[in-house]
Order: sequence, then structure tokens, then C-alpha cells
Amino acid sequence: MKDNRNLVSIVMPVYREGAHIVSILEQARDAVESSGMAHEFVLVDDGSPDDTWRILSEISSNFPNLAAVRLSRNFGKEAALCAGIEMARGDAVIVMDADGQHPISLIPEMIRQWVDSGAAIVEGVKASRGKETTLNRVGARLFYSTWTRLSGFDLTAASDFKLLDRRAVEAYLQMDERSVFFRGMTAWLGFERKQIPFEVAGRAGGKSTWSIFRLFRLALTGITAFSALPLQLVTLAGFLFLLFALLFGAQTLYVLIEGHAVSGFATIIFLLLIIGSALMISLGIIGEYVARIYEEVKGRPRFVVSESIQSRKKQGTLSRAE
Ligand code: UDP
Ligand code: MG
Repeated sequence: MKDNRNLVSIVMPVYREGAHIVSILEQARDAVESSGMAHEFVLVDDGSPDDTWRILSEISSNFPNLAAVRLSRNFGKEAALCAGIEMARGDAVIVMDADGQHPISLIPEMIRQWVDSGAAIVEGVKASRGKETTLNRVGARLFYSTWTRLSGFDLTAASDFKLLDRRAVEAYLQMDERSVFFRGMTAWLGFERKQIPFEVAGRAGGKSTWSIFRLFRLALTGITAFSALPLQLVTLAGFLFLLFALLFGAQTLYVLIEGHAVSGFATIIFLLLIIGSALMISLGIIGEYVARIYEEVKGRPRFVVSESIQSRKKQGTLSRAE
């Protein structure tokens, strides 16, 4: 097995990170080389509106093992990650953010654990969540506790900083869905895994481009892609209402037979309101899943590449043993 472990790919989604990308690449290269592995970089410019792509094209000659693609527009980090993982050829693929928040100093340790233990996935887990707003913190906590309950996988401390070996990469690539959620999907994969805790550092520059709305969409994707429980809750609510219906029905019939019906106006309004909103919410939940199905059956590509540059050797001429 040992001789199959030579090339480590570093995959980074890059969105408006031109200002600090060079120093991050240099540090990452040194980190991989210090563990005696060959490296390649796979960078995916997720349709940055600024000069990120120009900078990537310029530096490609300084990095002899670099492949970069530019997506035709901003497809989002998850899609960019897929693009990168598809292109990576390494025996292990390290996925990390390009903003310096994933400590490069942990790369040698990740590689060491992968080589020593043979684990298919070595994942960085957040020892603390770093600096973030209260809203983000509360939102994340709410999402993860719901997610864990619904899907059965605990992602509370999970991050997108991971090393996947070839087996895990191939398995990941077989997952064909449009709505991708890297953290959840790698958890679903199983395999033996090792964990390395890390502190989330501050960004090297720029600012995070995730709005609350985008995070909310990601959370919805994460939940609907991994659990059908919300749909089953609709059925459960239906049964609860049926129970009420039977009780009230019997009571209504009884009152009718007794001969003193009428009254109970408030009850009727109240029931109408409750049932009305329950129906609306249920339709909404079903709609959310229908939307996902629609997205999946359209079968559109996850991303579209507009340009690519390559300073690494063409496939075929690549020898893993280098
Ligand atoms: N990113 C991306 N597309 C986007 C937004 C972000 O590829 O639309 C990349 C970004 O360049 C970085 C990583 O995803 O490498 C994490 O982004 P960010 O730092 O904005 O997110 P946060 O650290 O706040 O989760
Ligand atoms: Mg970040």
C-alpha cells in the first residue's frame, strides 16, 4: 500500500481570494513537501468578479503542479468543491478553504495520520468556532442539532477541511446529486476516519461572502437532502387532526341528537385557523421536496467551466512515483 501514497492534491475553492492566495499556496506547498509527498494544486475560481482569475493565471507559472478552472459564474462553494475533487488526481485529496481559516500547519499531521493509520478520511474538526456573530452561532447550533436528529450524523464540529484518500474520493464522485452538501455527504460515506481538532483562524483578508440567506438555503439543502422526516411529520400531524376530528365529530353528533346544537362559533374559527395553517405548512414542506426532485431530474451539470489553465503534467504522462 505504501507505494500508492505519493501524490497529495490540495483542492481549494477560490472566491475573491486573489489578495492572499499566493502566500497560502506557498505555505501549503511547503507543508506537503515537508512530509515527503509530491503535491498538486487544484484551484476552482467560483466566478469571482474581481481579479482573482487573472492572479491565478499569472502565478500558474510559479507553481509547476497547478491546475485551475474558472467557473462560468458563481455556483457556490459546494459546486466549486465538486469541480475541484473531480479534477484532483492525488492519492489523497486535501480540501481546504483558500482564506487561511483552515490551518495549513495541520497538513503534515493530516498526511501523517493518513499514512500511518490508513484511514480513508482524516478530518479537521473545529475545537471552537472562531469569531462569528451571535446570529451565526445560534443559527449554526440550531441547524446542527436539527440535522443530527434528522439524519443521524453529528456534524456539530465538522468542517470542510478534510483529507480524503482515493477510495473516499471515488465513492464521493459516485454521489450524483445536484444539491451537494460536502460535510454531510462525506459523513454519509462512512469509512474509517481520524479526527484532528483545530482552532478556526481569522480570515487572511477579505470578508466572508455567506449571507444569512445563503446559509439558510444551505441548511435547507442539508436537511432535505438527508432526511424525509419532515414529510413523515406531515403524516403524523394528519393523524393528530384525525383524532381531534373523531372526538369533535362525536361531540357534535351528540349535541345534535340532544337537540341543542349552534353555539361554538369560536371553536369553529379556531379550528379553521389551525387546520388552515397546518395544511399550508404541510404543502410547503412537500413543496420543498418536490423542488429538490425537480432540481435533480433536470439533471443539469453542477457547474460550468469557462476557462482552465494547467501547469501540471497531462494525465497519462503523470507518474505517481515521481
Ligand atoms: N467560496 C466559494 N464560492 C462562494 C463563496 C465562497 O468558492 O460563493 C470559497 C471561498 O473562496 C473560501 C471558502 O469557499 O475558500 C469559504 O468561504 P468563506 O470564507 O467566505 O466562508 P466561511 O469561512 O465564512 O464559512
Ligand atoms: Mg472562511
